[in-house]
Amino acid sequence: MPFSPRVKGAVLGLSAAALFGVSAPVSKLLLPSSTPLLLASLLYLGGGLGLSVLELLRRMRGPGVKAAEASIGRRDVPLLAGVILCGGILGPVLMLLGLQRMSGVAASLLLNLEGPFTILLALWVFGEHLGRSGALAAGFIMAGAAVLGFQEGELRGDLMGMLALAGACLAWAVDNNLTQRLSLKDPLALVRIKALGSGTCTLVLAWMLGHPLPGAAVLGGALVLGFASYGLSIVLDAYALRLLGAAREAAYFATAPFVGALVSVPLLGERLRALDLVAGGLMATGVMLLLRERHGHEHTHATLEHEHLHVHDAHHQHPHPPGMPAAEPHSHPHHHAPLTHDHPHVSDLHHRHRH
Ligand SMILES: [Zn+2]
Ligand SMILES: [Zn+2]
Ligand SMILES: [Zn+2]
Ligand SMILES: [Zn+2]
Ligand SMILES: [Zn+2]
Ligand SMILES: [Zn+2]
Repeated sequence: MPFSPRVKGAVLGLSAAALFGVSAPVSKLLLPSSTPLLLASLLYLGGGLGLSVLELLRRMRGPGVKAAEASIGRRDVPLLAGVILCGGILGPVLMLLGLQRMSGVAASLLLNLEGPFTILLALWVFGEHLGRSGALAAGFIMAGAAVLGFQEGELRGDLMGMLALAGACLAWAVDNNLTQRLSLKDPLALVRIKALGSGTCTLVLAWMLGHPLPGAAVLGGALVLGFASYGLSIVLDAYALRLLGAAREAAYFATAPFVGALVSVPLLGERLRALDLVAGGLMATGVMLLLRERHGHEHTHATLEHEHLHVHDAHHQHPHPPGMPAAEPHSHPHHHAPLTHDHPHVSDLHHRHRH
């Protein structure tokens, strides 16, 4: 039996979080010979370049047996520009401004706001739905992230610093939700453009601010780390966004810092505190609750016109122009007629309705 989209989305979201979580402790090793802005840029570029190499290899092999995903078109440019502006420029710049004005502990606590902001935007602005059990599950995971971020040390900072860090999280939350809107398109291409765009923007910024490039070893290390933690991770995350919507994806992705804490043990010789285990327990509880969540009722699909890879399930009963092979899955622009039916669902792009 194939896994349900809910389970597939969970596995993809948690894998994305694990790959991303690794980047924090490894970055600590690279940071002394670089700056946060430059490192962020190199990580994005590593992701973008790695995915470009994959794309080249794919083209050299010629058309494969796997059906092609819907490609990114001109109509997607405004959303993509928003993604790069929020995620690649506003987010990093605001974070840097905030970091200068806040102590490390205070900053790492505040940066956890990305998850809750992503969920709130998804629910209030983008029409997603998270029932009581889903919200409780997300609450457990977010609480775990907060506990994990709590370290001995001074909580110091001013209002401007707090606003800047909160603003950075808001920018990333917008980025996540806009990426969700694009998630029916080819994730490899989507992330390649996003990573190259964001990496280039931050590189120009770092260059304007006079940040010197690190030596070849650190540079290479950052690019390789970027391929895993910003390239592959964001691709997996894009699939999770497609299958689950941004609210549930954000909950799974918020487990990333725990993976970072685990990796810090062998890598940096750090020890897990009792608090870290509490955090892990809270997160595990949240993940279990989210996996058990069920949501189903009679709902109506409005008319919808779009293009994506699909099989001809209950949502996709449409005619095909003569000459188009009806082999599944395939991708073409299609029209969704109004439809009322009852089945379990999450807030993917076909299920945005009032509750
Ligand atoms: Zn519903
Ligand atoms: Zn509904
Ligand atoms: Zn469709
Ligand atoms: Zn079709
Ligand atoms: Zn559709
Ligand atoms: Zn439906």
